[in-house]
Amino acid sequence: MRVAIQGTRGAFSEKAARTQWPDMETVACREVGDAVAAVREGRADAGCLAIENSLVGSVTPTYDLLHEAFGDGELHLSREVLLPVHHSIMGVPGAKLEQVTHVLSHPVALGQCRVWLARHLPNATLVNAWDTAGSAEIVARAGDPTQAAICSAHAAREYGLQVFEDRIEDDPTNQTRFLTFTRVPTPDNEQATIQKTSLIVWTDHRPGMLAAVLQAFAGRGVNLTSLQSRPERSAPWTYRFYFDVEGARGEARLAEALESIEALASRIVILGSYAAWQGEGAREQAPRQSMPHHQPKPDLPLFDRRQRPEGTIVQVGNVVIGGDRPVLIAGPCSVEDEAMILATAEGVAKAGADMLRGGAFKPRTSPYDFQGLGVKGLKFLAEARDRTGLPIVTEVMSWEEVPLVARYADMLQIGARNMQNFALLRAAGRSGKPILLKRGGGATIEEWLHAAEYVLSHGNPNVVMCERGIRTFERATRHTLDLNAVAIVRERTHLPVIADPSHAAGMRAIVPALTHAALAAGAQGAIIEVHPDPDHAMSDGAQSLDIPTFAKLAAQIRAYAAVEA
Ligand code: PEP
Ligand code: MN
Repeated sequence: MRVAIQGTRGAFSEKAARTQWPDMETVACREVGDAVAAVREGRADAGCLAIENSLVGSVTPTYDLLHEAFGDGELHLSREVLLPVHHSIMGVPGAKLEQVTHVLSHPVALGQCRVWLARHLPNATLVNAWDTAGSAEIVARAGDPTQAAICSAHAAREYGLQVFEDRIEDDPTNQTRFLTFTRVPTPDNEQATIQKTSLIVWTDHRPGMLAAVLQAFAGRGVNLTSLQSRPERSAPWTYRFYFDVEGARGEARLAEALESIEALASRIVILGSYAAWQGEGAREQAPRQSMPHHQPKPDLPLFDRRQRPEGTIVQVGNVVIGGDRPVLIAGPCSVEDEAMILATAEGVAKAGADMLRGGAFKPRTSPYDFQGLGVKGLKFLAEARDRTGLPIVTEVMSWEEVPLVARYADMLQIGARNMQNFALLRAAGRSGKPILLKRGGGATIEEWLHAAEYVLSHGNPNVVMCERGIRTFERATRHTLDLNAVAIVRERTHLPVIADPSHAAGMRAIVPALTHAALAAGAQGAIIEVHPDPDHAMSDGAQSLDIPTFAKLAAQIRAYAAVEA
């Protein structure tokens, strides 16, 4: 195997290439472009290029070559290689470090040894060479004791130089990432279980275009490993974006993301897929189940009671939902300010609540109503959790905000209005947090169960169903608490079922009665709106209990449960 590298014998690129082709013959090239040309023209069978250094960042000459090298599909990216890079400084045999006036190396290597050079050779002239090993070759040939080279210790042996000091790099974690490529595709790499794909995207000069491209990956759970922008030559102040993502281009999730970027972007060039580094320092995970929109259908739905006749327990912090003890979740409709949520949290904790609820992002019927405090609300909730120890549940309204809300909340609520927001359900599946799934006000039981199936089938087994009232012809109450659904859904699914009597009633007077009724029908807990001053609440005050009324209700529930036990 003849392998073209930028640099000469003893270069780091050669060492990287040897991890793939131990018996290779080195084809030394002056510039990265020459290495690509050597493979294209058949003077070499494969090549290896440095693309990024962990201290200095991108190797820009390589980036600027990627389009030309791989854009037409004639060459094939093969593997990614991570190589620890340790530098030594060396001179001719018999020379002393104090004599050195000129230090030669590749500019990236000089950049990696700044601290050592400033301390030991502050007055030396730094001379850029084409490559690290090449500078050793120059020093050896010149035989001049005032010259030193920075390169691998291995190059010192190669060129008969004497090492002044080893490991002079500024940071011992220093590593370089290389890409190998071949003229003939290598099938073993295409079958590698963990792959990466690199692409270039050009976007229109309009607000949000880059975000839209990123969302095409994020919305499908495709992990980004690198994003780099480079100026577009001959079009000043315009840019192209280089993306590396996990996965092979044919994988369903990635293929779908690429299809959508193709539609969004002004141009996309896929450079190729290749085996991700699997040795020391590897960061890529084995691909998760793929197929965002085409999952194979299981024989039994995942929600089906027969999957787990004993029932599922969902654990939120140290609270168990789905066991024999009814779970009480209490708190205001909206987090209104810091003092109010802290007072409510302390009140309901003392009254025996297991968890705290509170909306930070509110789905309001009118755009002129209070929309919630947003991120501030999440922070206040987290503070309330710290003070009381109660895990918190709060609503997330859009898939884009799932990572944000999941950073603060112990459980994510999907509200009635969003029960069939499928992008949100998929993101909830990937969120890693337990989900409280409310039934839509106009949703059938079947639709509600299939909404849960979305979350389950996207990898999240922790779903709690919440009946919160449906719209009927009756107008005396806000909604009608569907106790039939509570009883039936308990039979149809192994998932825990709780009730929200507050939103069903719309009036506080009947909330205690509905809570008892729901528990009698089989609900394994209740989520109840509680406000320190319900008549002045910013949302849903009419249906909110004050703290003493909640305390009384909680005491009754605990007493009944004790009798039952
Ligand atoms: C809420 O819990 O405050 C809420 C908006 O609930 P739902 O989605 O059930 O209306
Ligand atoms: Mn509410």
